[in-house]
Amino acid sequence: MSHHFSKENAELRKRLRALVTQANENQSKLHRFQDLQLRLMQATSLADVLETILYAYRREFEHDAVTLLLADKNYEIRRILKLLDWDRNEHPDLLFVENIQTLQQAFTDNLRPRLGACDGTCNLLFFPQHNRSYSSIAIFPLIRQQSLIGALSLGSYDAARFVAGSATDFLSSLSAVLAICLENALNNERLKLLGILDPLTGVHNRRYFEQRLKEECDRATRLQQPLSCLYFDLDHFKVINDEHGHSTGDTVLRHVSRQIKKFMRVSDVMARLGGEEFSALLVNTTQESAVEIAERIRQQICAEPFAMPDNIKLKITISIGCATLNSDCQLNLENTGSQLVKAADQALYQAKHQGRNRVVCAESLLKLDEQSA
Ligand code: GH3
Ligand code: MG
Ligand code: MG
Repeated sequence: MSHHFSKENAELRKRLRALVTQANENQSKLHRFQDLQLRLMQATSLADVLETILYAYRREFEHDAVTLLLADKNYEIRRILKLLDWDRNEHPDLLFVENIQTLQQAFTDNLRPRLGACDGTCNLLFFPQHNRSYSSIAIFPLIRQQSLIGALSLGSYDAARFVAGSATDFLSSLSAVLAICLENALNNERLKLLGILDPLTGVHNRRYFEQRLKEECDRATRLQQPLSCLYFDLDHFKVINDEHGHSTGDTVLRHVSRQIKKFMRVSDVMARLGGEEFSALLVNTTQESAVEIAERIRQQICAEPFAMPDNIKLKITISIGCATLNSDCQLNLENTGSQLVKAADQALYQAKHQGRNRVVCAESLLKLDEQSA
């Protein structure tokens, strides 16, 4: 009898130990989830939210794969990320879908999370860049205001990791927090961009240019690197407006801004300063290279007549002034930027005077040098 009791006792102790271990594991998992959610909520930018989920979460919870698929019908999120210099090639696990129905169809059961095996269609949609398919997956819908905005997908080589019917409380709560954080971060980026972008062309505006001008001048001075400024003004733009209408003029401005933008590096700053005037700051660029870039832009714009919808081709030309801040220009630090832009503007004036469709370079900032001496 006593033997029977002690056996039962040992069995109960064993079960109790297992339960305690399980409870401890759950407690630790809960803490890690809470930490992660806190981190998402404290993220200061959209990039921060994305990186937290794609990398930190994957690492800390030892997932074989984490992807994030976002509904982006009008390419707006992708445009915002591009403006934030987020290189999509570097983050293949951030995915986009234009057609929300494609995503909706993946969740048959009233937008409930989907756990279990992964078929070919599911692999293609949620893990398109992955060579191996996963033995089990968990796909969580991201929902805001009753609409599906994306999906968080986890993949595992272990068939037992995500099993249909198992509890998903932690992950469902993480998905809900992620959806809110994504929406907030996107709204914040939209607001920030509203203040620094030109609504007509989508390039930066004067306000942003002036802020960066100061920063780039400080940097160039500190690092003793050259900083070049190009000042662009379309030739006889008024005639285009007068002959073809203001809306054609607007289209031409968009076209020209795209042409200029093509020649810019990520570190350069390009903005529409107003009307048909644009300016670019070429970081760590000598006068010689800046003139070469300006000349290529000028040639590109003049070589390709702009085709209007009615097939009329407009010849567009642009004049460009160039000035360079060198480490030997001992300028007044307070207004180095405005002196640089002024010199480029004066060179532009010369270009107009000499017959337009040309690049003119400010001799040097020497004259300004003397002014500030
Ligand atoms: P120049 O070769 O001397 O630069 O001649 P221009 O005709 O380009 O110069 P001007 O400064 O006389 O004309 C600029 C024109 O740009 C006048 C203005 O109506 C037009 N403009 C300014 N802002 C916009 C805009 O947002 N959209 C359109 N379509 N036109 C604009
Ligand atoms: Mg002008
Ligand atoms: Mg003009």
